[in-house]
Amino acid sequence: MSPQTVESPRQGSRQRTRSCATELVCQRCENSYPLESTVFSCPDCGKGLDIAYDYELAASHFKDFPGSERPQNIWHFEELLPIVDAAAQARVGQHSGYTPMIRADRLGAELGIANLYLKDDSSNRPSLSYKDRVVSMSVARLLERSKTEIGCVSTGNVGTAVASMAAKAGVDAFIFYPNRLEEMKARACMALGAKVVQVQGNYDEANRRCREVAEATGMDFANITLRPFYAEGAKTAAFEIVEQFDWESPDHIVSPAAGGTLSSRLHKGLIELQLLGLSETDGTRIHIAQPSGCNPIASAILAEEAEVHPVMPETAAHSLAIGAPGDGYLVIDAVHKRGGTAGFASDPEIFAGIDLLAATEGLLTEPAGGTTVAVLEKLAAAGRFAPGETVVALITGNGLKTLDEHPQKPWPAKIDCELDPMLAALAELKSGESLLQSARRQLAQ
Ligand SMILES: [Zn+2]
Repeated sequence: MSPQTVESPRQGSRQRTRSCATELVCQRCENSYPLESTVFSCPDCGKGLDIAYDYELAASHFKDFPGSERPQNIWHFEELLPIVDAAAQARVGQHSGYTPMIRADRLGAELGIANLYLKDDSSNRPSLSYKDRVVSMSVARLLERSKTEIGCVSTGNVGTAVASMAAKAGVDAFIFYPNRLEEMKARACMALGAKVVQVQGNYDEANRRCREVAEATGMDFANITLRPFYAEGAKTAAFEIVEQFDWESPDHIVSPAAGGTLSSRLHKGLIELQLLGLSETDGTRIHIAQPSGCNPIASAILAEEAEVHPVMPETAAHSLAIGAPGDGYLVIDAVHKRGGTAGFASDPEIFAGIDLLAATEGLLTEPAGGTTVAVLEKLAAAGRFAPGETVVALITGNGLKTLDEHPQKPWPAKIDCELDPMLAALAELKSGESLLQSARRQLAQ
């Protein structure tokens, strides 16, 4: 097959990827726009835009190019991603995605789940969170548009992903954090060369204003003006999960939910694998986890409502503190169609979830991951998983970035560098409660 070219008015013809994206389509009223359009939400109904694909063409590409010939990165399934300019694709995400699937025997034993796995996006590259998937698409799209500045509004992880990927792509990054930011994430952005500002207001308020900034300046925002492209990156988690199980889709996926992009696009990714004849994914249920202090999607699912009612976030899980989730209605639909459910966890339960994961699997996650583990525990206790069923929990962020927020980790005592005090200290450390014991105690409360 000879490489195709794509016409660009500014830079002449460019080599084309195998993307089978065809157009932008409204999620609700089916208005459609050319893929090259800069429109990012439906002018008629205000809902977000989705990307449509030629699935017949994609299926034939998958026959022509076996997995062994594909890169082990975010572009492994490039037919089902929206980037058409091969040069833009080559500059982004070459080491993103393809995160490990970890068999979680010890955590599974604690929770009574025999076949428990963790999709470990806390080790995603370059910025140690699931957001490396979505921001890959935003930055590649920015390069397709031959633009040199990118903004974002972030609770934390989008910012670090944008800062890192913008630096590698050679574009300038501008990051707007709402108040109550996680300090280490903002520091990391600055250390990566991004320009960072903190705005008075929560995420939802900052998001609305950033939309106005984008309109006033013409600057693209990774998760606003580039959102239809951004969201497509989340599907890659579903593709990888199923491929890592040798194309046997798991019985359950448990995902944290904030704005709703990840869990709704897991659903889309599973549908696409089935459309392409790569896997039977109909039976996979998707369950979502939210903090009690910000659970608009989970509440709507449990109340069997089709739309979310925005809330004022009040939770230590800052990366999940989105009170007006833009894709909430898509998550409700996805969970409903897949026979899944939702759960939520209090802040003490979230930190106990972090501890339980650390003590059993040696993985240090942030409060979003603690939320997932705490809700996983509740779903298991409620009998949601039948014996023998396979359960995958998504661990979306790294705890190294949020350790300062952890309330239960006092700084170690300083003792003399002499044998006797060190032996006494060791004896005292051994007599104390283990991390596993304290996590169990917290979750049992
Ligand atoms: Zn519409």
